[in-house]
Amino acid sequence: MCALFDTLIGDADGIYDPSTYNDRLLLGLKGTMSEAELHILKARMYEGRKAKACRGELILGLPRGYVLKPSGEVALDPDEEVQRVIRLVFALFERCRSISGVLRYLVDHDIALPDRIRSGPEKGDVCWNRPNTATLSDMLRHPGYAGAYVFGRRHHDGRLRLPGKPHSGRRFVRDPQKWMVLHQNAHPAYIDWQSYERNQELMAANRSRYTGVPRGGAALLGGLMICGVCGRKMVTGYNDDGREARYSCSYEATTYGGPRCQSISARPVDTCLTALILEALSPAAIDVSLQVAEDIELERQQLHDGWKQRLERADYETALARRRYEAVDPDNRLVARTLERDWEAAMATK
Ligand SMILES: [Zn+2]
Repeated sequence: MCALFDTLIGDADGIYDPSTYNDRLLLGLKGTMSEAELHILKARMYEGRKAKACRGELILGLPRGYVLKPSGEVALDPDEEVQRVIRLVFALFERCRSISGVLRYLVDHDIALPDRIRSGPEKGDVCWNRPNTATLSDMLRHPGYAGAYVFGRRHHDGRLRLPGKPHSGRRFVRDPQKWMVLHQNAHPAYIDWQSYERNQELMAANRSRYTGVPRGGAALLGGLMICGVCGRKMVTGYNDDGREARYSCSYEATTYGGPRCQSISARPVDTCLTALILEALSPAAIDVSLQVAEDIELERQQLHDGWKQRLERADYETALARRRYEAVDPDNRLVARTLERDWEAAMATK
């Protein structure tokens, strides 16, 4: 382009006329060399990062519930309320066995998820966010909560990049065998490694088409029955206004138009299953009901503690806003008005 329009190009070393052969050659060489240099620089920086990560020292954003001490050490969040909610999420997943179950519980009991503000003037302060599926899923999948240091857990697919946005595209989580660095017991944990692995298996099973969590409906095995012939999940169908249930293996038929595999009326299966369940439970029945009662009491206690901590926080914030309001020079109306509003807002939360 420059050669066509007789435009000169200059850099620190001199001025070139792209319309002459010599200058064009020199410019081309310089361009190739600087590109190679850029590549070498990038590669060196990446190697440096990787070496730091292998030592477990490269910290890029911690999961909620953790803080980075000035010494570079990763520690549990010192705020008790934050810790309590994080523990609650894992305890709930253990019981509800699905992310949507955890979310429903949090929403029903008006519990928000804590985080530390990551940038801006309020960096480091605790903030409370509306719980949502994506955040819960991230939390339950993050090996950091089991005390592990991980690097290279996700990989980036640049093919799905948006035009003009170099950092966009989709990120995928790799299988644990492909993580670049995994140091177990690197920092304090909220759950143990076995629980972490169990949670991953459970989430994978929930996602799968073939096994799942129990569904609603009168049939006892809705969503749990697996076909002995082809190994696929059987669907439960109801007729006669929900009084008659039938388990059928129809994946092949509905997906590929193939033959129906097999189906069976739910009544004899459920009768047989009921007898087996009662037989298995009877000696332990008392233990089980005691355990359930204990669980409910524990949960009530946890909720109570949660509200107590919230009240404590509101008390503190009100007192702080009041102290600030009282400390300001009353003639400075501009500042006093803002502080007055803060104080009122703090009391309203309480
Ligand atoms: Zn089948």
